[in-house]
Amino acid sequence: MAGANPGNEWPPREWFGKFYLADLHVHSRYSRATSRDMTVPTLARVAREKGLALVGTGDFTHPDYFRELSEYLVPAPEEGLYVFRDDPEGVRFVLSAEVSNIFSQGPYRNRRIHTLLLAPSLEVVREINLALSRLGDLSADGRPTFGFPVKKLVRLLREISPDIAIIPAHAWTPWYSVFGAFSGFNSVEECFEEETEHIWALETGLSSDPEMNWRISALDRYTLISNSDAHSPAKLGREANAFWYPMSYPALLSALREGNLAFTVEFYPEEGKYHFDGHRSCGVLFSPAETRAHGGRCPVCGEPLTVGVMHRVEELADRPEGYRPPGKPLSVHLVPLEEIIAEALGVGPQSKRVKRTYRQLVDLAGSEFALLLEKPLSELASFVPEKILEGIRRVREGRVYVRPGYDGVYGVVSIFGGEEEETTAEAPRQQSLF
Ligand SMILES: [Zn+2]
Ligand SMILES: [Zn+2]
Repeated sequence: MAGANPGNEWPPREWFGKFYLADLHVHSRYSRATSRDMTVPTLARVAREKGLALVGTGDFTHPDYFRELSEYLVPAPEEGLYVFRDDPEGVRFVLSAEVSNIFSQGPYRNRRIHTLLLAPSLEVVREINLALSRLGDLSADGRPTFGFPVKKLVRLLREISPDIAIIPAHAWTPWYSVFGAFSGFNSVEECFEEETEHIWALETGLSSDPEMNWRISALDRYTLISNSDAHSPAKLGREANAFWYPMSYPALLSALREGNLAFTVEFYPEEGKYHFDGHRSCGVLFSPAETRAHGGRCPVCGEPLTVGVMHRVEELADRPEGYRPPGKPLSVHLVPLEEIIAEALGVGPQSKRVKRTYRQLVDLAGSEFALLLEKPLSELASFVPEKILEGIRRVREGRVYVRPGYDGVYGVVSIFGGEEEETTAEAPRQQSLF
């Protein structure tokens, strides 16, 4: 299989114990296309298995779910956070929601932006919900939709509490994001205008990683965060943030304002089905540079190529690939443990053998992140089968093979599939792709 060998950034050993992992963006079963299992008790259990210490509730705007949150959650010892009442020593919750604004603003028609919200207390959430219920139907979906500009949302929330975090969600997805090719703007300022100063952070989403965002100098002032946007328990923590202890809502806000987190856990953005450019039916897969070299047209059929997320990043980029601004959190790329096990065993990720092995290993190690991230390989060697251990080693070192998605075709990350190409493994991220 063709593939780059991207390498990886990795937290130094002495950081362990000083940070905790948080996934701030999830959905409840009240959101469309979401698993019925997405409830507070299940989130508490699965977040612990994953190794998350803090998880967003999701969907606090939904009236029925808000009632559940008020019943299930009690204040945690840490200011502004909550715990599941039946598991008071367990995972902490932060009140979170996502809203959708579809609007026109000045010359900009038909903008569609999703925004992640974090709130400091159930009392503040009650006020938010009261205000928003006058402007849209909160019970229609766990992620409600409004018809007014998103900057007006900022103003409204700031009037309720200055401690509400307002974070543009999955900032690069084509259809519903601040920079989306079909829905968005060219800058945060164009979108939020006089409210821009209240935007502290951007969620990079599954389709981009910090490396892509670092190429745009205008984004240096924003804290880049990563969350799962999980619609089912298994997806929890597939992207996450490592914040420094101590944990509290005020400390979380100041980390978002100042950008002082340890690292983010990233998916390989190449896995997304619109990462690169191309034509699926013509079998043409191009980097943005190759698309430009061909005048944007397919060399097989002559029609315009379908342009992906990387191309959109390059349109706005003012820095070359590989640029790293000083002082930014590390960008740690992981592959989900189930995928590592599946590839090591040579079976599908949904197979019973994978589920059984996953469960055994997580029980022995304490959590999925303990296996992927925390425990030294020498310690894992006592209970992790050799080939799975080798998979974990390669993921940590970034020795994986990545074939980008394009024109609706999912990309592929392979740990063992590119063995014969190992000699080209030193090549930088893009040049060895084809
Ligand atoms: Zn969204
Ligand atoms: Zn074509």
